[in-house]
Amino acid sequence: MSFKSKCKYSNDCPIFLGSDKSIVLDLMVYKNVFCNRGEKGWSNCKKRVEFEQEEITHQN
Ligand code: SF4
Repeated sequence: MSFKSKCKYSNDCPIFLGSDKSIVLDLMVYKNVFCNRGEKGWSNCKKRVEFEQEEITHQN
C-alpha cells in the first residue's frame, strides 16, 4: 500500500488511532475505505471535513 495515499490527518485523528470507538466498521476496513484510499476515500470522511474546517478556522 502506498503511504502517499494516506490521509494527512492520520497522526492526529482519533478514528485512525483507534481511540474513537464510534465507527461501526472494523478499523482496518475503515482505514482501507477512507484513510488510505487517497482523495476518493477522504472526500467521504466526515472527520476529515472537521479537520479541514478547523484548519480554515485557525488560518483566519
Ligand atoms: S480519512 Fe478521516 S478517519 Fe481517516 S485519518 Fe483522515 S480524517 Fe481520520
